[in-house]
Amino acid sequence: MEEQIALADRMKLIKPSPTLAVNAKAKAMKAEGADILNFSVGEPDFDTPPHVCEAGKQAIDEGFTRYTAVPGIPELREAIVDRYAADKGWKYDADQVQVCCGGKHGLYNMAQALFGPGDEVLIPAPYWVSYPPIVLLAGATPVFVPLSEEENFDLTSDNLNKCVTDKTRGIILNSPSNPTGSIFSAKALETVAQMALEKGWVIITDDIYDTIVYDEGPLAHILDVEPKVKEQTILLNGVSKSFAMTGWRIGYSLGPKHVIAAMNKIQSQSTSNPSSIAQKAALAAVSGPQDFPGKMKESFLPRREYIIGELTSIEGITCVNPSGAFYVFPNFSAYYGKKFNGKVISGSVEMSGYLLEESFLATVPGAAFGADDFIRFSFATSMDAIKEGMKRVKEALSKLD
Ligand code: PMP
Ligand code: GLU
Repeated sequence: MEEQIALADRMKLIKPSPTLAVNAKAKAMKAEGADILNFSVGEPDFDTPPHVCEAGKQAIDEGFTRYTAVPGIPELREAIVDRYAADKGWKYDADQVQVCCGGKHGLYNMAQALFGPGDEVLIPAPYWVSYPPIVLLAGATPVFVPLSEEENFDLTSDNLNKCVTDKTRGIILNSPSNPTGSIFSAKALETVAQMALEKGWVIITDDIYDTIVYDEGPLAHILDVEPKVKEQTILLNGVSKSFAMTGWRIGYSLGPKHVIAAMNKIQSQSTSNPSSIAQKAALAAVSGPQDFPGKMKESFLPRREYIIGELTSIEGITCVNPSGAFYVFPNFSAYYGKKFNGKVISGSVEMSGYLLEESFLATVPGAAFGADDFIRFSFATSMDAIKEGMKRVKEALSKLD
C-alpha cells in the first residue's frame, strides 16, 4: 500500500547520508559475524567524559526533564559565550547563540533561515556529505568550488572566481575539513573575506573539528583574519567531536541576532528545543575542564602518523597529511580500471565496495564527498584495527589486475 502515498517532490533531491549508510551496513555485517574493521563513520572512539555523564544523570535525578527555552537554556548559551570570549576573544551576547540538536541541525536551521530558490551557495569540494542536501532542501543551489590535492585542498582566488555569479549568496567553510583533514590558510580566508565584504555574502564557518588540530600554532580563522566579516558570519559548532558526545545531539550556532532569531523561529516550529538532559551535560562540557579534546588529540596523533606512513608506502597512492580532524583521504585512482575476478573497479564506489566485500574494511567512497579519486578512512579507531586494516588494504590492492 505504501506506493499509493506520493512523496513530496523534494524527496527526489536527496539521498540518505552515505556516511551513516556505510556505518549501518558495516554494523549489520559485524552483527552477522563478519570480521569487519570500521573506518567509515567519523566519531571519536572515546566515551563521553565522566563529569559530563554525571551532569546528565543529575539532570534526570533533579527532574530537569521538561521543555526548555527554544534557543537552549540560558546558562548553556552564557557558557558558550564565555568560552568563545576566553578562548578566542570573540564577543557575542547570549541572544546571538542557538543551541540545537547537533551540528547538522545547526546547519539545517541556518539554511532554512537564510537560503531559498535562486540562491547559490559555494561549497568547496571535497565537502562533507550533508552540505549539498541541506542547501537543496532549502530550495537553493549548491555550487562546488573544486579544490586540488596538489594545493593541499586550500582555496585560491582562481578556483573561487570561476564559481562566483550574481546569484552567489554565501559560502560554507569547514576547516579542519571533513573529509580531507586540511585546513584553510590565512591567505585563502583573507581572499574569501574580501570577496564576502565586497559582495555581501554570508559566510558559514563549520568549526566542528576546531579542537583537533595537529599543526603548531593557532588555527587560522576567518574572524581573526578579517574581523569585519563578523556581522555576516554564522559560526557552527557543537560538542559531538570535541567531547565525544555524538549521541547526545547538541550543536550550537552563533551569529547576528536577527539570524539567530530566525533560526529560533524554525526551531520553535520543528524540534522546540534540544533535549533538556543533553543540554545540562553539554553545559558541563563547555564550562568544565577543557583538557579532554587535547587528550583525544594526543591519541589520534600516532594513529595519523601510522596510517599516513602505510598508505603513502603503497605504490600509486598519494595522501595529503591531515592537519586536523581524524580522517585521511588517500587518492586510489591509480587502481581504478583494474579488475578483480573479471569485475572492473571503475571508481570510488566500486573500490570501497571491493574493500568491504573482500577485505571486510568499511570506508566511505570519495564520490560521497564530490571527489571520486579518493576513499575516506576515519582513524578514530584503535591502533590495532588500523594496523590490521592497512595490511588488508595492501593485500586487497595486490589482488587486482
Ligand atoms: N560538520 C561536519 C563537517 C561533520 O563532519 C559533522 C559530523 N557529523 C557535523 C558537522 C555534525 O555533527 P553532529 O550533527 O554529529 O553534531
Ligand atoms: N560527520 C561524521 C561523518 O562524516 C558523522 C556521520 C554524519 O553525520 O554524516 O562520518
